[in-house]
Amino acid sequence: MDTMDSMKGKDEMDKVITGGCLCGVVRYEYAGEVGESSYCHCDDCKRATGGPYTVGVVSVAARLRIVRGKVKGYATKADSGRNITREFCPECGSPLFTRAEKCPDLVFIKAGSLDNPEVVRPSCQTWTERAVPWAYIDEHLPRYPKGRP
Ligand SMILES: [Zn+2]
Ligand SMILES: [Zn+2]
Repeated sequence: MDTMDSMKGKDEMDKVITGGCLCGVVRYEYAGEVGESSYCHCDDCKRATGGPYTVGVVSVAARLRIVRGKVKGYATKADSGRNITREFCPECGSPLFTRAEKCPDLVFIKAGSLDNPEVVRPSCQTWTERAVPWAYIDEHLPRYPKGRP
């Protein structure tokens, strides 16, 4: 158990969050509460999701379990020169997870793939310099022109 886990109550750790792709081939479970999340307006997220932005939930990679199916990954280079791998269902193409070489212990779960996405509360917006004018989002959230500082 890491420090973060031991600070949480047992009930919270027993909680399991579920999600999956559109066709149902890939299903996953996440042990614990959803973590912090943020909007990303970068061009790669637009392309990969087909939407104006994506919302990624910061999650502990070790607590994510793919319980059905297998994902496929596609890697691009981040500005840092390190890989960002976006994982999706090979059958229906639904975006599911993003993994960054920079932080191998984390996985960013696509909020829209959760069975109950309403539990997500994004706390900031990144890459707002690339945001389209028709992406209406809570204007009081902190905005970062590029990635998180
Ligand atoms: Zn699918
Ligand atoms: Zn992005």
